[in-house]
Amino acid sequence: MGNGRAHFITLSRRVHRIFAPMQQQEAEQKVADGHWLPLMEAFYTVQGEGFHTGKAAYFIRVGGCDVGCHWCDVKESWNAALHPPTSIKAIVEGARAYSDTVVVTGGEPMMYPMKPLTDALHAAGKKRHVETSGAYPLSGDWEWICLSPKKTGPPQPAFYPAAQELKVVIYTKSDFRWAEEHAQKVGPDCRLFLQPEWSRREKMMPLISAYVMDNPKWQVGLQTHKYLGLP
Ligand code: SF4
Repeated sequence: MGNGRAHFITLSRRVHRIFAPMQQQEAEQKVADGHWLPLMEAFYTVQGEGFHTGKAAYFIRVGGCDVGCHWCDVKESWNAALHPPTSIKAIVEGARAYSDTVVVTGGEPMMYPMKPLTDALHAAGKKRHVETSGAYPLSGDWEWICLSPKKTGPPQPAFYPAAQELKVVIYTKSDFRWAEEHAQKVGPDCRLFLQPEWSRREKMMPLISAYVMDNPKWQVGLQTHKYLGLP
């Protein structure tokens, strides 16, 4: 994954469906440069996962992901063509009225150059958090990177020293060993979370709790927003 030519062709197809031919080339370029992004949704809620659980945050969900996790709970994000290319200016305007923390998620946000978005959020006085698999090149200026590695699209090396948080989704028992492989690569101050895959939470939670008690460098991660009925 991450083949530049293939990625460009995919982007071309996305914008072709939305814009008239005269506008198509300009739209392609803006998406390729990160000045527009396919916006799936944006909403104000409470961060439900990881180190910042419980804090109010404005979420920007960028469409497009080809990592292909079979248990993905936002499969509707995968096809970027379904989500309208939206200017960074409009995206940041949407965030302006809410709390100072913005979480950029997906989909896989790093499929696009993130610097224009993070620069605009910074100018608007927002703290910039991102949730990423790390499968695409690291871009943007972030205050908090939550790296959530996926077996179908492993992280690029640059993400390990940059991540403030490592969130590993536990689907089977063998995932603990896989989690440790990633924990060895992150920096010494990176927070470590083991989070049960939602459909397997009742089966995996006892194992995760026991693992965390035996290995206290890890913390239990929960999708608390789902328990609270929040998006
Ligand atoms: S990386 Fe995230 S959005 Fe992409 S398939 Fe996996 S869980 Fe879904």
